[in-house]
Amino acid sequence: MKPYNIRLLPGDGIGPEIIAQARRVLDAVGERFGRTFFAEESLIGGAAIDATGDPLPQATIDACVGADAVLLGAVGGPKWDDDPTIRPERGLLGIRKAMGLFANVRPAKLFPQLRGACYLREDIVERGIDVMVVRELTGGIYFGEPRGESVEHGERVGYNTMVYRESEIRRIAEVAFTAARTRSGRVCSVDKANVLDVSRVWRDVVTETAKHYPDVELSHMYVDNAAMQLVRDPSQFDVIVTGNLFGDILSDEASVITGSIGMLPSASLGAEGPGLYEPIHGSAPDIAGQDMANPLATILSVAMMLRLTLGLTEEADAIEQAVSEVLTAGYRTGDIMEEGKTLVGCTEMGTHVVNAFLRAGA
Ligand code: NAD
Repeated sequence: MKPYNIRLLPGDGIGPEIIAQARRVLDAVGERFGRTFFAEESLIGGAAIDATGDPLPQATIDACVGADAVLLGAVGGPKWDDDPTIRPERGLLGIRKAMGLFANVRPAKLFPQLRGACYLREDIVERGIDVMVVRELTGGIYFGEPRGESVEHGERVGYNTMVYRESEIRRIAEVAFTAARTRSGRVCSVDKANVLDVSRVWRDVVTETAKHYPDVELSHMYVDNAAMQLVRDPSQFDVIVTGNLFGDILSDEASVITGSIGMLPSASLGAEGPGLYEPIHGSAPDIAGQDMANPLATILSVAMMLRLTLGLTEEADAIEQAVSEVLTAGYRTGDIMEEGKTLVGCTEMGTHVVNAFLRAGA
């Protein structure tokens, strides 16, 4: 069987601790399913600044571009906050650009065992939360020209341009429709077509693209309504596809309502080549080096990587099943701890997941 070349980027803060647990899970997948993963590490972020003076060394870019998939921990921390000219975060933005990643995919799923952490009312949570937000990452108002500041009639004016080309809309819509096929088969495209011209082009192109996916149901929603509906009844959504600005806000909203950022994975994907997978949380410097971090978002990022980039669906399902079993057994890291449950550290949580995973295959 083909060996898979996975590039690990531990980064800063809790990054190395959570990536260590992800590596153990990859090894367990190898053991249970007879797969071979070559998982080597490269420097990024503050760790790379300390070692080389550059948050994204060329060697890291080369290793990532040449890999089958990339798994990142997190970057940043107070140690590197004083020098604005060389920020760890530049490593993250740089690697996304170098790998040509244009789609950010964030599932916000609430494990029923963690209902207590959810910010929504019990009767809403009862219906379940399993939304995937597909956000366009490289276009829209964040990059549109013209942009800038000027002075007109004696007062300052700031401006940006929201612009989308057909090709940019089509490729992100394709990511959403393809993802929907592996889920409940529904895509809701979010825009502001009642006000914005750019949104009317967005809506037309998404509708045209949908014709190639007759098995997927497409609906459209204005962004203000989508923000409201996510809180009122998230169960109505399967995949949400939207532009850069709206996606930035809605993906955070979808994540935060679940109540546990330590549980949520994400992916950034390009047209071809390796995808970049990472937990949505940061480097948590307040708990770094204390074996307190929740490794489950990173472990679930491994599952996402196996499913979306390597096509190993059965293996991905098995990882998610193992995580679910460990939660059912009552093991919790500090961030998701509730009364009556068993508090464990990062390494012990990893051990429970690996054991549950291997037990199911025995
Ligand atoms: P954060 O996500 O690192 O932490 C927010 C809070 O959540 C903290 O209290 C932290 O302890 C907790 N937390 C986060 N992940 C956790 C986990 N896995 N288990 C248990 N608790 C967890 O956000 P922040 O504090 O705003 O940022 C800290 C640093 O991380 C900053 O330097 C920031 O720039 C960076 N950051 C990096 C990324 C990334 O690498 N993608 C994303 C966000 C922030």
